[in-house]
Amino acid sequence: MVRISVAEADREIGVRHPVLAHGFVALVDYMGNDAAIVQAARVSYGRGTKSVRDDRGLIRYLMRHRHTTPFEMVEYKFLVRLPIFVARQWIRHRTASVNESSLRYSVAPDDFEPLAPESIRKQSARNRQGRGDPLPTDVVEAFRRDLDRISKDAYSAYSRALDAGVARELARTVLPVSYYTQWYWKTDLWNLFHFLSLRLDLHAQEEIRLYAAEVARLGRLVAPAAFEAFDEFALDHLELSRREIVAVRSLLAGRTPEAACLEAGLPLTREDGKPMTSGEGVEFLEKLERIRGPG
Ligand SMILES: Cc1cc2nc3c(=O)[nH]c(=O)nc-3n(C[C@H](O)[C@H](O)[C@H](O)COP(=O)(O)OP(=O)(O)OC[C@H]3O[C@@H](n4cnc5c(N)ncnc54)[C@H](O)[C@@H]3O)c2cc1C
Repeated sequence: MVRISVAEADREIGVRHPVLAHGFVALVDYMGNDAAIVQAARVSYGRGTKSVRDDRGLIRYLMRHRHTTPFEMVEYKFLVRLPIFVARQWIRHRTASVNESSLRYSVAPDDFEPLAPESIRKQSARNRQGRGDPLPTDVVEAFRRDLDRISKDAYSAYSRALDAGVARELARTVLPVSYYTQWYWKTDLWNLFHFLSLRLDLHAQEEIRLYAAEVARLGRLVAPAAFEAFDEFALDHLELSRREIVAVRSLLAGRTPEAACLEAGLPLTREDGKPMTSGEGVEFLEKLERIRGPG
């Protein structure tokens, strides 16, 4: 038996792709590819199968019907360098295997994330977790100066503590979350899809989205048909709640979107009569916008 390899992915092994100011994503290793997914799935059919779908069609079928375990036959190992504030979000994905560089053993590198000026924007009025409109340049520059000064001061305090003999595991406590860490991150394709569906989403923080995009780009090289099915049935798809289905029925009967929301019990106004900026009704209208498309 010959070990599965994908030339496009092999060329990327160990290549560090920059993300943010000092970060990177590198594909270190992988196991399996689209064929491994198909091979695992066909075990289910056993002997006497009447119709065996072609590989791409089978992968699309598996994705549509959430037959998930064949996707777990593909594994990825990445080396990632990322700011601690991104790492805190990333580490919440519990189904991966992680080994992080330890600041108990080694000295932290003197790299913090300075944030690109265009990424520093106003608190979003609609999304309590997100950012929105641009800020005046002086506000952006003042914030970046503070970030620079505080991060450098913290690193000076860290270095002074180390020089004075303070244990590394204690000295590190002065470092802010702008500082970088590094880890190996190993996961299978199904859990990678779950990670990507959450972290490529516009609701995820911009910085982790940049990492997720790079992980997705490298992951796609290994299993392009699986990623195509993921794009179509998991990433770029729309889910409708029971109320939203009622609203769509109203729309098909000729009601306006606002009347359809009212009929379906999807609120668009607050108790004081003011329009809502978030919630189920607003999200349904956003889904309609997506379906309408640009223009
Ligand atoms: C936009 C956004 C905002 C967020 N905001 C916050 C926040 O404000 N505060 C906060 O604390 N977190 C926040 N999170 C983190 C979020 O709640 C999840 O912890 C994180 O996204 C990991 O998702 P997960 O558990 O599905 O993934 P994984 O840990 O990778 O798990 C994958 C799947 O395995 C199953 N699973 C794994 N472990 C268990 C378990 N112990 N029990 C049951 N099922 C399990 C679940 O089906 C899960 O979906 C946010 C995440 C996103 C994307």
